[in-house]
Amino acid sequence: MMNLIFLGPPGAGKGTLAARAVDILKLPHISTGAIFRSAIAAKSPLGLKVKAIIDAGKLVDDATTIELVKERLAQDDAKKGYILDGFPRTIPQAEALAGFSKVDKVVNFDLPDSPVLERLGGRRVCRKCGFNYHALFNPPKKEGVCDACGGEVYIRDDDKPEAVQKRLEVYRDQTAPLIDFYRKKGLLVDVDASPEVDKVVGNFKIALGVRQI
Ligand code: ADP
Ligand code: ADP
Ligand code: ZN
Repeated sequence: MMNLIFLGPPGAGKGTLAARAVDILKLPHISTGAIFRSAIAAKSPLGLKVKAIIDAGKLVDDATTIELVKERLAQDDAKKGYILDGFPRTIPQAEALAGFSKVDKVVNFDLPDSPVLERLGGRRVCRKCGFNYHALFNPPKKEGVCDACGGEVYIRDDDKPEAVQKRLEVYRDQTAPLIDFYRKKGLLVDVDASPEVDKVVGNFKIALGVRQI
């Protein structure tokens, strides 16, 4: 069993790496952002509550987010371990998580601001399956159409420039302190997220001590 957290600025490549890590480690990928986006698409009460907050690049409140993750981790598939992507994002979330789950490792995807902006600026996402593309680095074969499922490939509202600035600010103020929080607990492993995806996957495997196949 392995309970993993993916930490890093928005646009570092956490979702992209999580999709690859699912195949390597056979663990479920749990992304709070993806859960919120499907709630918004379904216009559920949760979706209606969080849409404006997320579009503005702010954080959903801790109580709502913690409850959501607590329920998700209680599901059967998460019993064998999980990859938690995008949670915790605040110290109170990390403290709450410690009360209901044991964290084995925190993978810190490290990327400077300038490539972060380049990645967020070109990000395209499949509305149906959530697959991440990039307009320049990894475009779908047919523009606007997902290779994997045929779904519509779109630009997230929170990837527009004003929201991106806000998200980077929120990351610096509220999420980056988690790096020290987990380093002090001896759980942090750093992964250089700057090279191409296959290379980052290699860095990730080395950092976790997963044997190269
Ligand atoms: P990113 O590309 O920034 O990693 P995510 O898909 O992880 O984006 O999250 C999208 C948005 O969902 C965040 O900007 C925030 O508004 C909300 N969100 C996701 N996870 C959390 C969390 N743990 N706490 C509060 N808000 C969250
Ligand atoms: P996060 O989940 O950390 O917000 P994503 O996985 O959504 O980040 O990646 C952000 C954007 O950068 C996406 O468009 C993705 O295709 C692209 N991307 C991810 N990893 C890399 C990489 N190593 N090199 C270039 N582009 C990347
Ligand atoms: Zn798709």
